Amino acid sequence: MTSSLDATATTRAALKTMDRAELEAFAQSLGEPAFRGRQLYTWLVEKGATTFEEMTTLPKALRERLSKIATLGTIEEVRRQTATDKTVKSLFRLPSGRHVEAVLIPDFDDDDRAKRLTVCVSSQVGCAMGCHFCATGLMGFHENLTAGQILDQVRAMDTLARERFGRGITNVVYMGMGEPLQNYANVFKSTQFIRDGFDLSPKRITVSTVGLARRIRQLADDDAPFGLAISLHAPTDPQRSAIMPVNRSEKTDLAALKDAVQHYHATTGKRVTYEYCMFADMNDSAADAKNLATVARWAPSKVNLIMYNPVEGTRFTSTDEARLNRFIRVLVDEGVRVTVRRSRGQDIDAACGQLAVQEE
Ligand code: SF4
Repeated sequence: MTSSLDATATTRAALKTMDRAELEAFAQSLGEPAFRGRQLYTWLVEKGATTFEEMTTLPKALRERLSKIATLGTIEEVRRQTATDKTVKSLFRLPSGRHVEAVLIPDFDDDDRAKRLTVCVSSQVGCAMGCHFCATGLMGFHENLTAGQILDQVRAMDTLARERFGRGITNVVYMGMGEPLQNYANVFKSTQFIRDGFDLSPKRITVSTVGLARRIRQLADDDAPFGLAISLHAPTDPQRSAIMPVNRSEKTDLAALKDAVQHYHATTGKRVTYEYCMFADMNDSAADAKNLATVARWAPSKVNLIMYNPVEGTRFTSTDEARLNRFIRVLVDEGVRVTVRRSRGQDIDAACGQLAVQEE
């Protein structure tokens, strides 16, 4: 019997947008038992199959049928750059022809073995948030990535990690192109794919947001198991609104963010991480550090200070070591947990979005 899906399939079913339950329903819609959907999930998410032919636990007839009515929507790596510090950046072309990038960031122990391999993934092509210091923000928003396209970035970087460093990836951060919480459903689903595909604890996955208060509350209410980072970058409303347009709305200003963070902590018991890029003479004074400490005390938190990787076409430069050290001292005196992240891959346009912006 021909199912309605076959008959009307002018657009193919995008299998890597579906979770296990959706694939079970899809299999049943084809007149197949539900377990075929679970087998599909295993092939797509856990084994990383890129063709229907290799799904050998499925009957040949079903594989042939799927190849006519469904698509795997894979992304294709088109460029790769390696920095002197061994950070690798890859550019991927989506089925739409647009581009996104992912970065593999190795951290080494004293014996020069990779002890941590972090993948930074993109969640959107471009971004609507328009942060003034960001290459992706200069592009505007183009499209949301599917959960499978986010998974595919991790898969490509995991393969690369095994080739170059002899082990798979250990951490995933959603800090590449795009505002992940504007692509909420796909991002949420992709974190499950990544956990299943790489046997990764949710503690090793961090989703970063510019501070969309309503979505932060939703993460708490949806019991999101992964970590949350907030791109703060300025500690007062006037300073933040000047460089991050999102802060100009009362739905997403610091008061709204404070409410959302406190709700998040009260609901999940988890601490948040604030990301804070150090811009010379803009947000790096002792008074800024005191104001940042006030934000850090809204709820249990830690602060990551990031040495800014300058982006062509913007007016921002990185703070110097003396100002950084003074800033850290103030934060520590205020009782804030603080770490510093040095820019990685500075010789390969590693700031988020730079390679894709060039390609576009
Ligand atoms: S910093 Fe993040 S949220 Fe802001 S424009 Fe860039 S990608 Fe978007």
